[in-house]
Amino acid sequence: MDFQKEIEIYFRSRFTLIVVVSFEEERIVEGIKQVCEQLNRQLLTWDHADFFQSVTKNIVAPSGIKDPLSALETIEKLEGDTVFILRDFHQCWHQQPKIIRKLRNLAQKLKFTKKTIVVTTPLSQLPEELKDDAVLLDFRPPDVKELDVILTRLISTPGVKVNLTTQGREKLLHAALGLSSNQAQRVFAKAIVSGGPLDDRKIDMVNAEKKQIIRESGALEFFAPSETMNDVGGLEVLKEWLRTREQAFGNEARDYGLPSPKGIALIGIPGTGKSLTAKTIAGLWRLPLIRLDVGALFGGLVGQSEENTRRALNLAETVSPCLLWIDEIEKGLSTGGGDGGTSLRVFGSILSWMQEKTKPVFVVATANNISHLPPELLRKGRFDEIFFLDLPTLQERKEIFEVHLRKRKRVVAEYDIDKLAKAAEGYVGAEIEQVIIDAMYLAFSDKENPGRDFSNSDVLEALKKQVPLSRSQSEAILALRSWLTEGRAQSASFNEKQQAQEQFVQIEISKN
Ligand code: ADP
Repeated sequence: MDFQKEIEIYFRSRFTLIVVVSFEEERIVEGIKQVCEQLNRQLLTWDHADFFQSVTKNIVAPSGIKDPLSALETIEKLEGDTVFILRDFHQCWHQQPKIIRKLRNLAQKLKFTKKTIVVTTPLSQLPEELKDDAVLLDFRPPDVKELDVILTRLISTPGVKVNLTTQGREKLLHAALGLSSNQAQRVFAKAIVSGGPLDDRKIDMVNAEKKQIIRESGALEFFAPSETMNDVGGLEVLKEWLRTREQAFGNEARDYGLPSPKGIALIGIPGTGKSLTAKTIAGLWRLPLIRLDVGALFGGLVGQSEENTRRALNLAETVSPCLLWIDEIEKGLSTGGGDGGTSLRVFGSILSWMQEKTKPVFVVATANNISHLPPELLRKGRFDEIFFLDLPTLQERKEIFEVHLRKRKRVVAEYDIDKLAKAAEGYVGAEIEQVIIDAMYLAFSDKENPGRDFSNSDVLEALKKQVPLSRSQSEAILALRSWLTEGRAQSASFNEKQQAQEQFVQIEISKN
């Protein structure tokens, strides 16, 4: 439901205290003004600097009411059907029991009038005492239609040259989703004034600006898809699962009656390609990828972590359909709840959001360490599937060698992949990549023949020099693997042993 409709319903049904959470005061006031005009109500604003100001023409603002308590008393006394917007009023009730009490009294008294108090604040934290009397409303950033209005206004300025295709315009607007109207306005304006007409080439610029703004805002980071499935060696079961759902967010899938996939968890040994997979899904499904750094959600002030979480999840919904990659989900919980329960509350809110979200946001949660994860996170039904990324099998190691040789523009046939893969037992993808880089250094700095190309034996030597994690941290890895065998997750790879067994059974059957 859009904001104006929602607020109109609240006005009509005599909700007397509404708290709207957003930085976008101007848009809130404009939206409420339109509702007031429709309902024939008067609209006044009050803040610490300008005191009472009238917004609609049908009322004269009382003058000289400087302190918040007198403002509330004035609201009580004023005649007429009026909406009062108190800007940034959270600053006034902070540790002010008198103000909170007065607001509560008013909220109850105004029920018999057509007066409503709307508080605007960028923080969603309400004083405990007000929770019962106030409704909390989230004010979302502009949607495509509203962004179109902003863009149209900007490009109708005389002298602005525009050469956008219909598709280009659409993409430009989508690129600005998630920004506040002020931010969108600034980004569009920058695209307009920077060299040449506003054309399809400026889409990348808007995307880059948004990336920057989102990064500055805290725990979120945008990724442009650059990896493809061909960059991932092995993990066939996982890849197949993803391919089957390639069209899952399209209109056709919706018309067919398919629910949007909720998300997957990728658990496993570090360096097995969890992050790599998250990035390739974005490429495969052609969706924007947002990375949420759970560690960065935690802020020092009371309530700040919850606030950051709420904002991050809201933003993901605004740019949906998208992928939300929750990186190293266990990180935030490593404090073991010794932070007064903040980390558990943050997790609680992520979990309930995952359960309740109606927007197509596909969650990819990655974790290296399951011992810190609350069991309810990995409960069946929370995710569509939980994949375990184990040490790569022989076939997978072959593929990983091939991927990284090709990446470095080497001819795969010139290497004995079979031998290398066998020698690399216990090495994960990231280690195999590192071994190839080490081998390149060995050859490049060869004393007798510097700069020669690296060979099989260089790779074998580099392998010997590197101790894989599976050896140096064998216990931790054993614990992780035994977790898999308890049947809590599906293996991301073909199980070669199982495959060999199946083949054996087939041979036996065909013999009989
Ligand atoms: P994780 O997130 O599981 O710790 P990453 O995805 O960050 O591991 O892996 C680091 C790098 O190692 C990747 O960017 C990639 O270059 C290489 N790598 C890991 N696994 C694979 C794989 N299965 N296929 C190809 N490369 C891999």
